[in-house]
Amino acid sequence: MNPKIWLSSPHMGTLEQQYVEEAFATNWIAPLGPHVDGFEQDLASYTGMPHAAALSSGTSALHLALILLGVERGDEVLCQSMTFSASANPIVYQGATPVFVDSEAETWNLNPELLEEAIRDRLAKVGRVPAAVIGVHLYGMPAQWERIRKVCQRHGIPLIEDAAEALGSTYRGQACGSLGDLNILSFNGNKIITTSGGGALLSSSAEWIQKARFLATQARDSAPHYQHSSIGYNYRMSNVLAGIGRGQMQVLNDRVQARRRNFEYYQANLGDLPGIAWQPEAEGSFSNRWLTCLTLDPTVSGGLTREDLRMELEKDNIESRPLWKPMHLQPVFVDAPFYGDGTSQKLFEQGLCLPSGSNLTQEDLDRVIQRIRSLF
Ligand SMILES: *Cc1c(COP(=O)(O)O)cnc(C)c1O
Repeated sequence: MNPKIWLSSPHMGTLEQQYVEEAFATNWIAPLGPHVDGFEQDLASYTGMPHAAALSSGTSALHLALILLGVERGDEVLCQSMTFSASANPIVYQGATPVFVDSEAETWNLNPELLEEAIRDRLAKVGRVPAAVIGVHLYGMPAQWERIRKVCQRHGIPLIEDAAEALGSTYRGQACGSLGDLNILSFNGNKIITTSGGGALLSSSAEWIQKARFLATQARDSAPHYQHSSIGYNYRMSNVLAGIGRGQMQVLNDRVQARRRNFEYYQANLGDLPGIAWQPEAEGSFSNRWLTCLTLDPTVSGGLTREDLRMELEKDNIESRPLWKPMHLQPVFVDAPFYGDGTSQKLFEQGLCLPSGSNLTQEDLDRVIQRIRSLF
């Protein structure tokens, strides 16, 4: 059996372990400390956002974003349907109702026209507009943000940027993670950089980020004893893990270059095969190409489907994965309203993510390419 090729595995640089040892040496083994402060500063300066809170996960960052916006029981929140479930779950944590919106074909992200339609229809049906919109940059590809932002502005709805997959991407020269009213990042093990698990909330509002830190630290009032006037959470990042994050930030741009090289190599060596197309990169957008994603149209490929591709790779110990199954097709969200035209369903049926780690070797990439070519 050939060695396993993973979809996207952690890739440490040279300084992470040193930072972790520093945390041990100074006994900062806690969900606060100098590495947490340093990592927050690194994130803020990289994205150009003045304020960042390092948290235990991207999911907790999204949850806090909704709390800060006052989302509560009885509210509706609009969310891109084609995404990882963590984009939508915190809506339900708040007792609110997710309303899903389809993708467009140009970036595979939130369709601004369907977003507008959804807002108007919710206004007509429930008498008020949704409390927030959650937009995602799928696989690192920036969404049509300017258009999405305008729709939200027109209706006075706050916009949350789920940039969990898009650290290192830019939209019209601006960093992803700095485009929404509240922005979230993830440092889970498979993301472009990782702290094994972690996330961050970013905003230009000092007040919001301060409140996020307060809520994430069990909402302790300033009193010598433990006193609480609101419900808190345990959502802060450990100083040990923030040390990993500081090391990872120093290699982030290298990781982006490596992932983009993967994409270009796949495209150059598989692009001629019938029925294969790639996630498009719109003019003015720069994707970190977190994952290289293709679609395979069986009416052009002579009947070959993405499942044929996936299973062929599996036989050679190569991990690939279908695109995110849209939320409106998930059993847990069957009752949620959905506004769509079939785009994300088709992407899901035809789409596959190829091994995309920044630590893949030339032989790894050639093995994947050879295996795929052998099927055609
Ligand atoms: C990974 C991811 C999240 C959640 O981040 P965690 O750190 O795993 O909680 C949220 N949204 C998207 C789009 C993601 O890919």
